[in-house]
Amino acid sequence: MMSVEEALDRILSRVSPLGTERVDLLSALGRVLAEPVAAHINIPAWANSSMDGYAVRSRDTERASRERPALLAIVGRIPAGRVPEKPLGPGEAFRIFTGAPLPSGADSVIPQEDVEVMGLELQVPHPVSQGEFVRPIGEDLRAGETVLLPGRQVGPAEIGLLAMLGWGQVEVYRRPRVAIVSTGDELVDLGVTPGPGQTQNSNTYSLMAQVLESRGVPENLGVAPDRLEVIEERFRWGLSADLLISSAGVSVGDYDYVREALTRLGADLHLWQVAMRPGKPITFGTAAGRPIFGLPGNPVSAMVTFELFVRPALRKMGGHAELQRPQLLARALAPIPNPGRRRGYLRVTLERRNGEYWARLTGEQGSAILRSMVTAD
Ligand code: AMP
Ligand code: MG
Repeated sequence: MMSVEEALDRILSRVSPLGTERVDLLSALGRVLAEPVAAHINIPAWANSSMDGYAVRSRDTERASRERPALLAIVGRIPAGRVPEKPLGPGEAFRIFTGAPLPSGADSVIPQEDVEVMGLELQVPHPVSQGEFVRPIGEDLRAGETVLLPGRQVGPAEIGLLAMLGWGQVEVYRRPRVAIVSTGDELVDLGVTPGPGQTQNSNTYSLMAQVLESRGVPENLGVAPDRLEVIEERFRWGLSADLLISSAGVSVGDYDYVREALTRLGADLHLWQVAMRPGKPITFGTAAGRPIFGLPGNPVSAMVTFELFVRPALRKMGGHAELQRPQLLARALAPIPNPGRRRGYLRVTLERRNGEYWARLTGEQGSAILRSMVTAD
């Protein structure tokens, strides 16, 4: 049996990022950057005030005290959006507002609530240190600096940063289109009440949701009965997408046709026994350059194998730099027996005690017990 890591390596070595497209700034939300973002200017572009107050030279206030305030002449006014008309000379102050550029000669700002104003005379009751209440040029971004790398998912902060740099559009990776086929004679789809022996198709929906969460675009190809020609035909249709997922019919039972259907498509096929529970049998192959996953049919197995194998592959196709979720270590609150040598992928709730995580199983872990996923953290 193959390890999960080895199976994943083999899968990832056979998928590559899709193409890119240019989208309007806000449409880039949740998408993956396909180009680096560099600052072409300093932000802020000039030293400016972080308060409403007075721009001064700190040296002029060196000896100021409450008893003997420094007296400065107010010689100008700089609202936000204006530029200073002249430099600031010794013994002078400019009225200044938040965001307005500092006049040359000034090196600090004193907030208006700290001073007294008598006509055109400013009384400063304490020394002001150099740079106080000044946002230096390039404090946020330096001209020439690369701020965002390709492969990063765009969130609201990135959108703001791109706007700050004047980008109205940005190059992002295309979202992978993922066709999903559920197979099984027993399956009925939404809208039909299962009769005796029939099962409601749920995998199509959990898998489509997982595709969406992985930033892919799901395409529902419905349910195919356990008939080789129908499954083959459905798979051919699915190859118009970027990736094809089938659920169920991958074991070696009399009604398991997925493998044969893929062979008929000329797929370069790998059927692996992966040392994991749930989800031991997983089929992976490529046909017409498209990756194909044959996932097991049990609802938990389908979701867990998606999470372990399909999600990283989809993220790689979608240009993500980071393919894996963050991991953390937790201790088991009670012993968890593991019969056999397969690694268990168990559903747990987590709690934090004294800075450590502790895990508790969500009850029965059978691969058909979807509730074990629902109640898990
Ligand atoms: P199979 O891999 O075809 O032997 O299916 C294993 C189990 O998963 C059976 O109990 C199936 O009824 C169940 N199953 C297969 N496909 C689905 C599906 N789309 N939704 C819910 N259960 C399914
Ligand atoms: Mg079946």
